[in-house]
Amino acid sequence: MSEHYQALLEKLKAITDVEKAVAVLDWDRETYMPEHGIAGRTRQISTLSEIAHRMFTSNELGDLLAAAENEQREAAYDSDEASMLRSVRREYDEQGLFTPEFVRRRSEVTGAAGAAWAACRKKNDFAGFRPHLEASVAIAQEAADIYGYDDEKYDALLDKYERGMKTAAVRRIFDEVKAQTVPLIQAINERKGAIDDRMLAQDFPVEAQRTMCRYAAESVGYDFSRGNLAEVHHPFSTSFGRNDVRITTRFAPEYAVSSLFATLHESGHAMYEQGIAEALDGTPIGKGTSSGIHESQSRLFENQVGRSLGYWQAHFEVLQRHFPEQLKGVSVEQFYRAINKVQPSLIRVEADELTYNMHIILRFELEQALINGDLKVADLPGAWREKMQTLLGVVPETDSKGVLQDIHWSMAAFGYFPTYTLGNLYSAQFMAAARQQDPRIDTELAQGKTTQLLAWLRENVHRHGSKYDAPELCRRATGQTLSAEPFVHYVREKFGALYAL
Ligand code: ZN
Repeated sequence: MSEHYQALLEKLKAITDVEKAVAVLDWDRETYMPEHGIAGRTRQISTLSEIAHRMFTSNELGDLLAAAENEQREAAYDSDEASMLRSVRREYDEQGLFTPEFVRRRSEVTGAAGAAWAACRKKNDFAGFRPHLEASVAIAQEAADIYGYDDEKYDALLDKYERGMKTAAVRRIFDEVKAQTVPLIQAINERKGAIDDRMLAQDFPVEAQRTMCRYAAESVGYDFSRGNLAEVHHPFSTSFGRNDVRITTRFAPEYAVSSLFATLHESGHAMYEQGIAEALDGTPIGKGTSSGIHESQSRLFENQVGRSLGYWQAHFEVLQRHFPEQLKGVSVEQFYRAINKVQPSLIRVEADELTYNMHIILRFELEQALINGDLKVADLPGAWREKMQTLLGVVPETDSKGVLQDIHWSMAAFGYFPTYTLGNLYSAQFMAAARQQDPRIDTELAQGKTTQLLAWLRENVHRHGSKYDAPELCRRATGQTLSAEPFVHYVREKFGALYAL
């Protein structure tokens, strides 16, 4: 008997339909919508979002959920039914925690903070942003208290993006990454001139970049019959269901590899969504399970594959054909070295594979201090500079290039930053497990191919959608809880060889 479950599923799929319609409107806004469409579009999105919210929080849905739970009591833990009900129950109960008054107040705080952030960043005016950031911290603390936690307040915020992950566990793992990375960066700094990447900063025609991005996405397994590639200011990917998952990229005429690596990154995100089991499509668990696991898939294809020598030994010839002038006389080894140059810098989004995590660890540590009340917003710029000095050996001269550079805190999105580094760590752990379990993967990677690797990811990660929380998915796929070891091993080997350490 699954009558109630089926009825519930139909309702949930209808809600997903509305949410996906919002996603289409959103994608269109970022890609092809004329500038003057913004007011109408904002209204359409808000109307549809409200409809979806009303449908999900209705008593009717609550009753159906209870009836379906009763009916599916015997369903096995890892069945689609039990997994779906667990997930929906959690979300349904959580919706009830936040009163409409709180939701409205939070959106007022973050709305004002977002506008202030954009203006203050331009003017390098931390003092102007400060009261907004204070309000943003306060609303996040309030949300954490409402949500509840066992050990520390930050747990409640982290759980929203990385369900099931504890702050203490992240802290332990990040401390290990930090302890291993800081000396590595210092050693590399002493060999500053070892890598010449000047060939990357030339005039690269956008038309050839476009062709190359499509080639790169296809080369790692992104399925263009179930997606497409559009041009935007800030690259992202979006799913309307497993058969329509779109990617975007940004073209900088003077720096060809940024569009290429952005495309590989978004392809990784998109292949995750394209690989979700058909049975879960259109349901609430037919999506990636956490921000960290999602990021692991993008980082895996951007860095572990896209910045590997094997990949370019197979594909550099094609790149050279598209940019014959720019890459004349450049060897594949020279190119490989250039795309892996390590350079401590001020801006997170421009950081290389090795220094990137230090930007995240800095934010993670500051966020916790803010949320616990150990650090005042007024003291944040100073704390920022101090940590930059310790972790990267560089210090911003302005707050615009320091504490004001990211949008996240203005959105009260505390707890999001660590998922970027969690993604890097998961990607190394998945990669190590995949290579160990299937020796064909190494052979293929050395030839620039990812067929078996993608098959492993489909089987062990993608198809499950969000049936399992990140920590459980990691255990099931790799046999271990998340650890810093595979990532540390990977960067030591890779950068040790690149810089002859
Ligand atoms: Zn990403």
